Amino acid sequence: MSDTRKRVVVVGNGPGGVELAKRLSGEFEVTVIDRETLPHYSKPLLSHYIAGFLTEEKLFPYTPDWYERKGIDPRLGVEARAIDRARKVLVTSEGEIPYDVLVLATGARARPPTAEGSEHILTIRTLEDARLIKERLEEEGEITVLGGGFIGLELAGNLAKAGYGVRLVHRRETLLGLDGELSQRIMEKLGEAGVEFHLGANVLSADEEGLNTDRGYIPGGLKVCAFGIIPNKELAVRSGIHAGRGILIDERFRTSARDVYAIGDCAEYSGMISGTAKAATEHARVLANLLLGNEDSYDFAFRSAVFKFADFNVALIGRTRGEGEWLDDGVKVFRENGKIVGAVVLGNVKKAFRLEKAIREGLPID
Ligand SMILES: Cc1cc2nc3c(=O)[nH]c(=O)nc-3n(C[C@H](O)[C@H](O)[C@H](O)COP(=O)(O)OP(=O)(O)OC[C@H]3O[C@@H](n4cnc5c(N)ncnc54)[C@H](O)[C@@H]3O)c2cc1C
Repeated sequence: MSDTRKRVVVVGNGPGGVELAKRLSGEFEVTVIDRETLPHYSKPLLSHYIAGFLTEEKLFPYTPDWYERKGIDPRLGVEARAIDRARKVLVTSEGEIPYDVLVLATGARARPPTAEGSEHILTIRTLEDARLIKERLEEEGEITVLGGGFIGLELAGNLAKAGYGVRLVHRRETLLGLDGELSQRIMEKLGEAGVEFHLGANVLSADEEGLNTDRGYIPGGLKVCAFGIIPNKELAVRSGIHAGRGILIDERFRTSARDVYAIGDCAEYSGMISGTAKAATEHARVLANLLLGNEDSYDFAFRSAVFKFADFNVALIGRTRGEGEWLDDGVKVFRENGKIVGAVVLGNVKKAFRLEKAIREGLPID
């Protein structure tokens, strides 16, 4: 008997694509394609792998036969090149794949440094990048990380904890877009782990031995840039789908093309790009419900994430800018018109889950 299920084709085997495929398999005929040849692996664990805390196998949450067992057709090492919207066909490096529903979960790539001599600076996004950084680090024993966002802090923290010499260069005076006080607390903890900070330093150029910044020369052969992402929107743009910084979506993850959706790091909603695995997975959960006919929604404006820098946990919940007030030694909350709209939790993040629920639902916070 022929398969009468709808065909869902997902481009991207990252956390967004794989979560969606997992949730739709069974109900739909699901194909996942990715230009990488590897099965799904965890990007949040890459710095743990580089530090030597994990073997490479531990980056892969699923066994090799997982896709087959789930009824998902993986097409790895295959690039999506164009969408023929009239015929509802995805054109790939290995031929055409017809779809009823197409989901773009193409993610993002690392923003490359633009300073002169940028060929002396590596970037981090894929396992291949991580393998190269690990190999160089084991030879050189020290690293300079560019960027004080969560990826830079995670990398710096884990490598310092592993005993490597780590410098962190950031162009602002504060970290993660937080205020001076919170940045100081994070810096102290990472400083105890061994990270040397160079804040307020703009990189002017790089050479084989180090970085020229407007705050002086910072020596170090191995330099890794971790300061931002560029959403992979080219496939959509080439196919006439509207894009800004990312692929434009509405509140139900619909792009400007019929039956084509976008989730995760490639998607832009109301000027926002999510940028975390947590958000990509949640997008997938909500879109899967919508495609399965179950009403659901995603609150794009409310962001939350928990990060671990060396052994120090930091949870960011909702809006975390402006004038804050400490509820206790580890929790700083932010108000708007008297109402708590966000919080930063340092250290013991067990409270974060309860706080997030309370802030989302507007419940009183003690
Ligand atoms: C070092 C590092 C540490 C991180 N730490 C954390 C963390 O602690 N917590 C957290 O929440 N997030 C973290 N992130 C961010 C997180 O990994 C990303 O937000 C997440 O991977 C985005 O998921 P995605 O599914 O949208 O896209 P991606 O994971 O980027 O996957 C997209 C996939 O699409 C494929 N693709 C793109 N274009 C095509 C095409 N045309 N044809 C075929 N395939 C294509 C790509 O090869 C890629 O495999 C980290 C990221 C890095 C790099």
